[in-house]
Amino acid sequence: MSSPVSPVSPSSNEELFDRARALMPGGVNSPVRAFGSVGGTPKFMVSAKGPYITDSEGREYVDLVCSWGPALVGHSHPDVLAAVHAAVDNGLSFGASTPAEAELAQLVMDRVPGVKRLRMVSTGTEATMTAIRLARGYTGRNLVIKFAGCYHGHLDGLLASAGSGLATLALPGSAGVTEATAAETLVLPYNDVDAVEKAFAEHGANIAAVITEAAPANMGVVTPEPGFNAALSRITAENGALLILDEVLTGFRTGPAGYWGLTGAKEGWTPDLFTFGKVIGGGMPVAALGGRADVMDYLAPLGPVYQAGTLSGNPIAMAAGVATLKAATAEVYATVDARSAELSAAVSAALTDAGVDHSIQRAGNLFSVAFGTSDTGVHNYEQAQAQESFRYKPFFHSMLESGVYLPPSVFEAWFLSGAHDDAAMERIYAALPAAAKAAAD
Ligand code: PLP
Repeated sequence: MSSPVSPVSPSSNEELFDRARALMPGGVNSPVRAFGSVGGTPKFMVSAKGPYITDSEGREYVDLVCSWGPALVGHSHPDVLAAVHAAVDNGLSFGASTPAEAELAQLVMDRVPGVKRLRMVSTGTEATMTAIRLARGYTGRNLVIKFAGCYHGHLDGLLASAGSGLATLALPGSAGVTEATAAETLVLPYNDVDAVEKAFAEHGANIAAVITEAAPANMGVVTPEPGFNAALSRITAENGALLILDEVLTGFRTGPAGYWGLTGAKEGWTPDLFTFGKVIGGGMPVAALGGRADVMDYLAPLGPVYQAGTLSGNPIAMAAGVATLKAATAEVYATVDARSAELSAAVSAALTDAGVDHSIQRAGNLFSVAFGTSDTGVHNYEQAQAQESFRYKPFFHSMLESGVYLPPSVFEAWFLSGAHDDAAMERIYAALPAAAKAAAD
């Protein structure tokens, strides 16, 4: 097999980063990859298989990033690779409808019955951007409520207090967003139903939608208080606004029907619109929005809300999505759930042994660690930001040194896959005591 790195290219991470920095802003194509909050040289990855990822210097790590979520069934799953190879042989893109689009849409609807129509796009940002435009077009209203610390992609209107890379870089929002655009978003504290009631009392006639992460995982993981999402569903319905449940990160990961499957399905509420991404494409650029038929049919070509994409529904990407959802069996979810419970307990035990105050933040099988928060836990962005985040840097680097690749920011969730077997988990457990000690110093 030929080496993925050409012999004439630099192959050390250091050299690759130097070259990348001369060619691309910060040397990266997405900010958190630059290791800004943990420092050091980012790893340049060249291959990944099962629970492992390998850098340009040939070092293999147990991967707890999993491409920021998509690799639910493990990297390079044989069924997914076979489906992609077969699709590639038929051509890369046709700019026309293909049978695989309906196949993927059907798989989504079988899992999430509230999705009556689906529109495929290429990124989570496009999905939420389109959902917002659709909500405005459908309701004829302008304002959108989002919650501080929730990340919905980099669309202008939703970058205020957005978590993810903005939290990592300690940015309140983004330059380049006009005041007029920002003024159309009301940012409220997470988990605060009273604040939502009050916003509707003041602005209800002009609120098109409330958008929320089904369970926030971009300010670290935060559990929605019992009944919080249900209250959002009730309040939006009472006021003629739409609820957009952003399942880009949680969808098909926290269970076959995402975080809605763990909550709304049992509590008896369904959002008007869902957004999906990550797992739905299994590592290829696929995202989608879906929901009520009467709302979705407001999209062009049926309705007046325009949305389009040259590569939307791309056949290779659809093949990867179909194969991934088929490979995401009950057994995969059982494995991810069990590994998540074991790992979070092991992390907590190691930190406790080293005397490091912390809380484990959990939503289904997603979790993260928040340092110095054992007294209150983390229920909103203010508490997430107030934690002892400086402890994550030495923790992260100690784990990296021991061959475990964690998200390079304390504000991100840890991702597991169905391929994380005993050997991979043992490597993580062996690395924890030294990392916990590093966090204590
Ligand atoms: N929504 C949520 C909840 C996300 O976590 C993300 C990305 O991490 C997005 C939207 C944006 O997705 P993308 O990065 O594909 O644009």
